[in-house]
Amino acid sequence: MSTKPPASPSLRNAYLPLEVFRQAVAQADVAISITNLDADIIYVNEAFSRVTGYGVLESIGQNESMLSSHATPHAVYGEMWTALMAGKPWTGRLLNQRKGGEQFLAELTITPVLDAGGNTLYYLGMQRDVSDLHRLALQVKNQKTLIESVIDNAPVALALLDADGQVQLDNQEYKRLSALLDTNAPAMLLLEKLQPDWRDRMLAAKNKDVGEGKRVADKLLAVGFSTREVRIDRPGSAAPRWFSCAALPIAVQDERTDDFYALAPHTYLLLVVSDVSALRRGQEKARLATLRALMVEEEHAAALRESLSAALFRLEGPLNVMDSIEHVLQHREPGMAEGLHAALKDGRTHLESLRQLIPQGCQEAMSPVNLNEALRDVLDVCTPRLLANGISIHWQPDAVLPAVLGRPMLLRSLFKALLDNAIDALSMRGWKEREISIVTSRAKGQAQVSIDDSGPGIPAELRFKVFEPFFTTRGTQNGHLGTGLARAQEAVAGHGGILDLLEAPGGGCRARVELPLAENNIEEHAENREYVHEHA
Ligand code: FAD
Repeated sequence: MSTKPPASPSLRNAYLPLEVFRQAVAQADVAISITNLDADIIYVNEAFSRVTGYGVLESIGQNESMLSSHATPHAVYGEMWTALMAGKPWTGRLLNQRKGGEQFLAELTITPVLDAGGNTLYYLGMQRDVSDLHRLALQVKNQKTLIESVIDNAPVALALLDADGQVQLDNQEYKRLSALLDTNAPAMLLLEKLQPDWRDRMLAAKNKDVGEGKRVADKLLAVGFSTREVRIDRPGSAAPRWFSCAALPIAVQDERTDDFYALAPHTYLLLVVSDVSALRRGQEKARLATLRALMVEEEHAAALRESLSAALFRLEGPLNVMDSIEHVLQHREPGMAEGLHAALKDGRTHLESLRQLIPQGCQEAMSPVNLNEALRDVLDVCTPRLLANGISIHWQPDAVLPAVLGRPMLLRSLFKALLDNAIDALSMRGWKEREISIVTSRAKGQAQVSIDDSGPGIPAELRFKVFEPFFTTRGTQNGHLGTGLARAQEAVAGHGGILDLLEAPGGGCRARVELPLAENNIEEHAENREYVHEHA
């Protein structure tokens, strides 16, 4: 007879000496007990003694109920015995008591040991003390509840975004922000304004090899930014709002088991937003008062410039006529011609002195200008006139209009001239429909501004003529020199843009301005970013 064990593992087990099984059970690091059908203990191993405090000998003959702390609900035992009586195993948690009286939470599995006919002969119980595990799980749960309630009640809006830009966690204040800005993705709106390439940065930090260590950390840092302030203009008459934002990159290990040995972190971006509108509104009020004063001053200077230019332009006419007369007189009355020549020379000298006296406008430096902000300023400055003339405004700013590179005051004066024209057109006595719509948008590297009025419009044959200096359809009595559009066109051209006068959809006039966006130029782009004020 061969003593060599068979090759199959299952068959090989059959040849294991019984003593090996005995020792395996006796030395197992899990508390094992075997009972009869009444749960009277007939065997316990060393680990059982360690966990329960009852020695091997003093356990034998006792009922398992000796471990009961009498705090486990009867229903649990009911469930347990129902399963066991049906010949099925049972697993559950019981509040047990050690010999010394100390309570512990036991995770217990009882398996019926069956004979060949399927009748239960014994019960095999295996239990372990899961008190620490339970405490830890509860601590995590409680901490989560605490953190969630702190986050939820925080006075700032919080949103945790994953690498795909999905919001994984947010709080009540973020939901309020969503309602305030009338968008279900306020985080996207703010990030697009503050860090337009944030998605690329997130993707660059995502799924990097373990070995990349420092580079991953650097890339992760590049995703975030410290406190930056941003202004959001909202459609209609709603006042703009200011938000102070910070973005914090967070790297966490994934909970999935397939990532157990992979150290590549998953990147999240925590966006913290606080509404600083009240503070900014106060500052804004003061800034607008200064701006209003500056614009009035600039308008006075421009009016003086234009009045003098107009006077010079008109004086040139008679002088030219006299010039022609002088030529005629030179042959017939040379004496008179000479006198006239001297008078003309004097006249031209005085005209030239007058021309030298025309005040020059100050040259502003080019800087990134947000057209939404410029238009909002102009609207604020013009509010008294709009109210006085009963004109309603439909203000529809592009939510993320990038900056243009330009002269801030000159652009404001340009839009004020266009808005003043629209107000003048609607302020005619008896004109009923009084609406102005201002829309900003961007297309093909250009920022577009449309100012539509519901006035009588400009006849097609005059649409080019109105740009000529000193041309006006309103007469010069009310201070209309007819130079506003000529100046506006000059200002737009100076910014590399286009100014058109078209027919508005309602029949009135549409003034459309197109200006190149600063981001078209790499150098300009760098400056453009600074429009978002960053505070260290
Ligand atoms: P009991 O009067 O003993 O029982 C409560 C109810 O359980 C009864 O009303 C009855 O419906 C049912 N029941 C009890 N015994 C039987 C039975 N033999 N057949 C059918 N139904 C029955 N309990 C612990 O508290 N801690 C343990 O660690 C533990 N380990 C166990 C390990 C094994 C292998 C087995 C078989 C049982 C174990 N028990 C354990 C259960 C224990 O035997 C008791 O049922 C339990 O402790 C309740 O005891 P009691 O004195 O409060 O109520």
